[in-house]
Amino acid sequence: MTPEKSAIVMRHVEYGDYDVILTLFSRSKGKISVIAKNARKSRRRFSGRLELFSVLHPDCSQPKAGGIPVLREVDLLEPFENLRSDFIRMGYAAYWCEILCFWLEEGAAQPEVYDLLETMLRELHIGKVRPEILSLLLQLRFLTLAGLAPGLDTCGGCGAALVEVRAGRIRFDYGRSHILCGTCSPLAKVSAMAPGTVKTLCWLQRRKYQGAGRMQFSGDAAREGLFFLESFLSFHMGRDFRSLKFLRSVRSSGTLAAQTLSFPVRRLKA
Ligand SMILES: [Zn+2]
Repeated sequence: MTPEKSAIVMRHVEYGDYDVILTLFSRSKGKISVIAKNARKSRRRFSGRLELFSVLHPDCSQPKAGGIPVLREVDLLEPFENLRSDFIRMGYAAYWCEILCFWLEEGAAQPEVYDLLETMLRELHIGKVRPEILSLLLQLRFLTLAGLAPGLDTCGGCGAALVEVRAGRIRFDYGRSHILCGTCSPLAKVSAMAPGTVKTLCWLQRRKYQGAGRMQFSGDAAREGLFFLESFLSFHMGRDFRSLKFLRSVRSSGTLAAQTLSFPVRRLKA
């Protein structure tokens, strides 16, 4: 099985009485929609191989003009069953898939983004790295690959370096996608973060995954960084992600511990 043919199930919608329409993120084809006929009528037809967040190899018929490809057969490569067994993991996986499903164009391959999502879903399934850390890494890396990386190392007004900006809480201008120093007045929507949070995000943004295993920061920084990146993504995509409401709801139930977090991510693929 070649990795090029793999695809992640991002969305699963019942269609008519018997069918299911899947939105897949194919490594070689980008976002594609396929219909699984009789998937709900016969349990044996696909027998649990079309679950959300799983990785599969779809075999589809060629669509007629304007038609949707029909799924003929499927090989399940990675079930990632743990992603559907608790609300926190389900919340993060659903949020990541909703962001990418919205951003991806039909039929346009994005192999680096695909590899990022598959790697993070695998780590979320394994459970050795805290989900909030994976979400920080995924969002920062995705924003970089999408050309939307927030400017965290210099002031968007005067160009002052972060080390000169660090005085009290650091403001971030969503319109300019940059941090602002104390003398540059915010003209648009701004938020404020502790200097340590900005420094940590900046560090993660530059190093991708490498060396993250040595990094430690507080639960407060994780919370603040997550809230910032989630708000930043919603602002730039002009969309309130439904799964983010669910994720924030289950996260606020107390599962994001206040203890110091570490980054045991040596096994992550770059
Ligand atoms: Zn400035």
